[in-house]
Amino acid sequence: MDPLTALADLVAFPTVSDRPLIALAAWLAERAQDAGMRVERFETSPGKCNVLARIGPQDTDGLLLCGHMDVVPVAGQDWSSDPFHLDRRGDRLYGRGACDMKAFLAATTCALAELPLQHLDRELVLAWTHDEEVGCHGSRALLRQLDQVGGGLPSLALIGEPTNFEMCRAHPGHTTLKITCTGRAAHSSRPGLGTSAVRIAADILDALDRLQEELAAEDQDVDPQILDALPTPYPVLNCGQIHGGTAVNIVPDRCELLVGLRQLPGQSGHRIFNRVQALVDSVALRWARQGGGASAEILQEAPALLTPAGTELERLLRPHASSDKAGAAAFATDGGNLALAGVHSIVFGPGSIDVAHRADEYVPVDQLWTCQRVVSDIVRRRCMPMA
Ligand SMILES: [Zn+2]
Repeated sequence: MDPLTALADLVAFPTVSDRPLIALAAWLAERAQDAGMRVERFETSPGKCNVLARIGPQDTDGLLLCGHMDVVPVAGQDWSSDPFHLDRRGDRLYGRGACDMKAFLAATTCALAELPLQHLDRELVLAWTHDEEVGCHGSRALLRQLDQVGGGLPSLALIGEPTNFEMCRAHPGHTTLKITCTGRAAHSSRPGLGTSAVRIAADILDALDRLQEELAAEDQDVDPQILDALPTPYPVLNCGQIHGGTAVNIVPDRCELLVGLRQLPGQSGHRIFNRVQALVDSVALRWARQGGGASAEILQEAPALLTPAGTELERLLRPHASSDKAGAAAFATDGGNLALAGVHSIVFGPGSIDVAHRADEYVPVDQLWTCQRVVSDIVRRRCMPMA
């Protein structure tokens, strides 16, 4: 099979994160089995599973190739062609996930089909994850699943997210915070009898703005080379959703804010959350006499990635990379979770993140073939060093 055919097959599975993806997982599992690998499927919830495939002597000196199987939604986007049918126009292949990140899955599958995998000196492992796009849930579950069956992972991982073949050894994390404001409901003709939770939320937004200014002005204590590569060289807070009130003529007694925090490589989301909690507590204290309150909690944390410079994988990828330096990606990946298991990841793959998640997402045809050659080369050099 060539990578174009494989990518067409993969794009045809509409694996938007809110849908099941077991059919796509079965396709990938079958190809890995055909390549001689031992395949395990770990079901996390109905319709959702991770695929783990191994071959070669088990040790930590091998190589992990990791990618996510889910894609972002197409609803509300203006596509020029069916997003779940790979469409070649000129030198580009269009389709949802063509770039992020089914191109890597297709290229890897085809590369492994052609390699003599029965002669590995070091272990090769594939980890295909679910629900990366909605908070890296699959890779987090995979660590628990591996704990249960007692299997380890190689110490180096390639995560084939779209970086236009730039090496990224770091990226910010993403922590989702929920702030709940509570007041007292009343008829809006008698506002004095109530306390508006939406008004409390407005105070919290002001306080979050001040915290954002403080964070932007602080010394970040992050490797300057990594900081330089990030579009925003400080932790970012974004209130992305607000839900408050039930009717226009009722003083609202509840308002919820969802706030995204992008902590920098090497920073803990929990530590910055403590500062958010302190500001929420101080706003709550001001409103307490009027029966108002507010509280904050962490809904989930996708950790940041910070792989040391100069890993063996960086050395192997350098001849194929568009730049000699390993920098930082702006987006979060499964690499943050893998780091919790001691895995050092480099994010490197075909396509550009600039066209991902948008209508008419595409990957250049030549990059698909290049990716197959790169995977083939690094598997040979890492896992068959005696050959
Ligand atoms: Zn992705």
